[in-house]
Amino acid sequence: MYRKTVILLALTTMTLLFGSWGFFAHRKISHLAVFTLPQAMIKFYKNNISYITEHASDPDKRRYIDPSEAPRHYLDSDHYGSSPFDSLPMKWNEAVKKYTLDTLKQHGLLPWQIQRTYASLTKAFKDRDSVKILRYSSDLGHYIADAHVPLHTTQNHNGQLTNQVGIHAFWETRLPVLFSQDYDFFTGRAVYIEDPLKEAWKIIKHTFSLKDSVLLIEAKLFRTFPSDRKYSYFNNNGKAIKQYSEEYSEEYHKLLDGMVERQMRSSVLSIGSYWYSAWVDAGQPELSKFKFSTESLIEKDSLEKAEALYKEDAAMGRPEY
Ligand SMILES: [Zn+2]
Repeated sequence: MYRKTVILLALTTMTLLFGSWGFFAHRKISHLAVFTLPQAMIKFYKNNISYITEHASDPDKRRYIDPSEAPRHYLDSDHYGSSPFDSLPMKWNEAVKKYTLDTLKQHGLLPWQIQRTYASLTKAFKDRDSVKILRYSSDLGHYIADAHVPLHTTQNHNGQLTNQVGIHAFWETRLPVLFSQDYDFFTGRAVYIEDPLKEAWKIIKHTFSLKDSVLLIEAKLFRTFPSDRKYSYFNNNGKAIKQYSEEYSEEYHKLLDGMVERQMRSSVLSIGSYWYSAWVDAGQPELSKFKFSTESLIEKDSLEKAEALYKEDAAMGRPEY
C-alpha cells in the first residue's frame, strides 16, 4: 500500500512536470503498440522500443520551437456547425477550398496531419531509412493517440466555455496516471487500414462523440461532490500545487465507465495498424536488414532546446495539449 502510494505520487508529480496524454500515456501507448505488430516487423521495433517510447511526446515538444506545430494536434470539430463531419470535406484540398487555409490552421489539422505523417512513414520504409522510420513512427503514434482524446476534437478543449478549466489534463493525464495500471491492454494484432485518411476521420468522429460525456459527467459530479474534498495539494519545491483529489478522480473515472481505458486501448491498436499499413504500402521491405545509426538522429539540438522549454513551461503550471 505504502509502495503503491509512493509510486502514484512520483508519477503524479512527473505528469505535472511533463504533462499531456502526455508524457505518461503517450509513452505507454506507443510502447504497447509495438506488441501488436506482425512477426516481420516486431523485431525491428522491439530493438528500438526505447526510441519509440522516449520520443512519443516529441511533437508536443516541437510546439516550443515551431509555431506551425500546434494545430496539428487537434480539430475543433464543432467550429464547423452542428454536423461537422458532413460539412467538412475529408480531403485537404477540398477543405482548403471550402474554408480557407487560415481557418483550417486556426481550428486544427489533425486528420490531415495523420495522413501526412503516414505518407512520410511509408516513404521512409520505401527508402529503407531506419532513422526516419523511427521518427515518423513516433510522430504518427503521437497524432493518432491525440485523435483518441475527446478534448482534442472540440473548441471547448479545456472546459473554458463551460467553466471547467483544467478538465483537459484531468482526463488525459491525471486519470491514466492514477488508474491505467489496472487497464486491460490486450488488443490483438494490428490490421491493415485501406484508407488512412478515412480511418483518421472515423477515429475523430467517434472521439468527438465522447466529448459531451467527458464534460457533462464532470459538470454534474462537480455540482454534487462535497466541495471540500474535490482537491488535494502537494508540495513542489515549496509551492503548493492544486490537483483534483484521488477521491474525486476515482468517482469521475468510475462514472466514465471505462472510457479512458477504451480510448487508450484503441490508440494502441490504431497506432500498430497504421505502422503495419505503411509498411505494407511500402512493399513490406525486409526490416532486419536495416541499420540504425544514432548519429543522424534528426533535429537533436533543436529538440533538446524544445525539451528544456517544454519542461520549464510545464513546471510553471501545465499547458494542455
Ligand atoms: Zn499532442
